[in-house]
Amino acid sequence: MKITAIETSVVALPFTMGGPYQSFAGQLWDRMEILLVRVETEDGLVGWGEAFGHAAIATTKAAIDSIIAPLMIGRDAGDINAINRAILHSTHLLGRNGSFVYGYAGIEIALWDLLGKRTGQPIWRLLGGSTPGLLDAYASLLNYTTPALVARNTADAVAAGYRAIKLHQTSRADVLTAMDVAGDAKVMLDVNCAWLPPKAQEMAESMEMDGLAWLEEPVWPPEDVHGLASLRRYGIPLSAGENVAGLFGFKTLIEAGAIDIAQPSVTKLGGISEMVRIIHLCQANAVAVAPHSPYFGPGFLATLHVAAALIEQPLIEVLWVEMEANPFDPWVRPQNGKLAVPNGPGLGCDPDPVLLARYAKGPTTRTETAR
Ligand SMILES: [Mg+2]
Repeated sequence: MKITAIETSVVALPFTMGGPYQSFAGQLWDRMEILLVRVETEDGLVGWGEAFGHAAIATTKAAIDSIIAPLMIGRDAGDINAINRAILHSTHLLGRNGSFVYGYAGIEIALWDLLGKRTGQPIWRLLGGSTPGLLDAYASLLNYTTPALVARNTADAVAAGYRAIKLHQTSRADVLTAMDVAGDAKVMLDVNCAWLPPKAQEMAESMEMDGLAWLEEPVWPPEDVHGLASLRRYGIPLSAGENVAGLFGFKTLIEAGAIDIAQPSVTKLGGISEMVRIIHLCQANAVAVAPHSPYFGPGFLATLHVAAALIEQPLIEVLWVEMEANPFDPWVRPQNGKLAVPNGPGLGCDPDPVLLARYAKGPTTRTETAR
């Protein structure tokens, strides 16, 4: 079936985060924004996707509306492999890691949603998975301004049933504070590329015996794979991958011996097909996978489907925030630290139109003309 229209829209969901709101790329982060992509075919069937995201939404949306969507009109929505090649080749000079690939990821997820709806199968089934049970989630805490907030949010996440907690702090003192209240729950630390290698080595050495389940992105810049690899000697499992470009970015990380745990992000690296390729590469190199998924729309649902199709299922990242409502409820909310996987065709969850309208931010952009 031919693609006849693509729409992009944004919802902005109020949330609380257990402390004062923080800034993200210079913007106050006080709404959980989701960039939605809606792909329509000539028979009226609709697929939904989500493109990354947060402070990048305006630029990703512009990439879709101005360049990618016109390239999609008139193509057969089922030709996922061919479309992946054609669109990413057409746009590769515009950047292999950023707005264009993020934007295309939203469309690719929608193509899988359409394929599932057309064939009556959930995406986990299209990927060869068996009926899934519940997936284990970890609480991905935000950045807090005081040790007291670190302690309180760690304790609250453990009380909510999480067995693994990830901090977004940069001091060892905060790690020890969290470990004090985490009981036997695992603690991970994500410093978002805070340090050059010498400082990162000093920090890793200081935390060598603390029992961190992983240390995420300790090195600036994220493409310094050899700097990252220099930290393996301290024995703390290292994770990275949310900031590298697709399959070959992961190949570079793995070949440098830089990671124990790969963190592919389905809304950033081009969608479900590329995510699956990356997971296979990791399996062939004895590297574990823990998806990057700090989002709450079709990208999160796509992460659940990809994880559910695996024999050994990874921990799923869930941001530790409280939203008053989400158009993709209840699937984006863990219960007792675990997530159910939708069983319906495609992603198995279309957004609630009432909530889409209530939380809409700005106009919907519709593209119906091919370029
Ligand atoms: Mg991270």
